[in-house]
Amino acid sequence: MVGGIRKGLKMESTRSGGMGAPDWHMEARSPVKGVGPEDVRRRNRNSVLRLLYPDHWLSRADVAKLTGLSKSSASGVVTSLIDDGLIHEEGRRIISGPGKPAVLLHLDPNARQIIAIDVSRPTELIGVVTNLVGEIQARAQLLVNEGEQLDIDPIVELIEELRDELNAPLLGVGVASPGTVDRSGTVLKASNLGWENVPIAARLEERIGVGVRVDNNANAAALGEYQYGVGREDMMFVQIAQGVGAGMVLNDQVVVGTLFSAGEIGHVVVDSNGVICRCGKRGCLETMTSLPSLRKRLNAEPSERDRILTQAGGVLGQTLSMPIAMTGIDDIVISGDSEVIDDVYLAAVSYAVNSRIDEEFFGKITVRRTQLGSDIVLLGESVAVLRSMLL
Ligand SMILES: [Zn+2]
Repeated sequence: MVGGIRKGLKMESTRSGGMGAPDWHMEARSPVKGVGPEDVRRRNRNSVLRLLYPDHWLSRADVAKLTGLSKSSASGVVTSLIDDGLIHEEGRRIISGPGKPAVLLHLDPNARQIIAIDVSRPTELIGVVTNLVGEIQARAQLLVNEGEQLDIDPIVELIEELRDELNAPLLGVGVASPGTVDRSGTVLKASNLGWENVPIAARLEERIGVGVRVDNNANAAALGEYQYGVGREDMMFVQIAQGVGAGMVLNDQVVVGTLFSAGEIGHVVVDSNGVICRCGKRGCLETMTSLPSLRKRLNAEPSERDRILTQAGGVLGQTLSMPIAMTGIDDIVISGDSEVIDDVYLAAVSYAVNSRIDEEFFGKITVRRTQLGSDIVLLGESVAVLRSMLL
């Protein structure tokens, strides 16, 4: 269960030209090529749902006013959403003064369910069923062999197991994968899973007959922290695991980059005299602060623990200070085994960042752990499905 949903979605009027609907997907939407009545209908439904998400109560008149739709169009959309069970109409707003109190509309958080799968963990596949506001309602996992190429069959098996737990219609399935993922759901490269140009979304859709999306796991985590954590409007998520990856949310959108590689910071050289990395270069960030590299150094010199962690956190903080200054992000969320990525490490990141940037411009940059624990990737993937398939 998640403590509370932090934010609704930003809303823009769709009245001007009708084509200005904001993009809630994780990537830029492809150019609109001709818009039929079905597109208009879908867009209008999405606009109304975005207004009500996650827990806003509005009257039909509010909906018309805020979407820019005519009263009769708004009412038609609302009626179709009520018929589909997505929203309910009940309750009355308490108003002072004359006039009839309004009946209010709200989203039913249990009207649909989402299956989210995380294939980025080294020894297990894990999946959950959530409702529309990120409450976990079922969970399943499968052990896999670390380092072996991952086949599609166990993913299908896990999805089918979770499907048996559904008690509402399934909105869609999301898969969080390591590596780079394009907007069609093809994993371009995920070395740990042995995947290169594997159309995961298409293959899963063929097997299970439901819409599937695939996202990079660090991007999913960033979205999870943004939506369900205490992330600020603009935030950066850094995951320290076998490698080092990051995700960034700017202006309500996850940044993915032209080649879908935004956040692949692990193999950026930060010390040209450093040790040779598995990629062949020397002194990549990953050689200095991935979990395996840190554990190796800590095991070799246990009495130097604080010095090693302070130095490694300092390198990460130094590396992050420039993108922080470029973007104005003031919230850095770090995840990683707390035995290693401890308070000493986080304090070193914070000191390195805050001592480098100009406080007059940027204020105090927060460096903190995620509040969502190990489910952060799954919750983020659930949000990704929600945003791309309903809102
Ligand atoms: Zn490297």
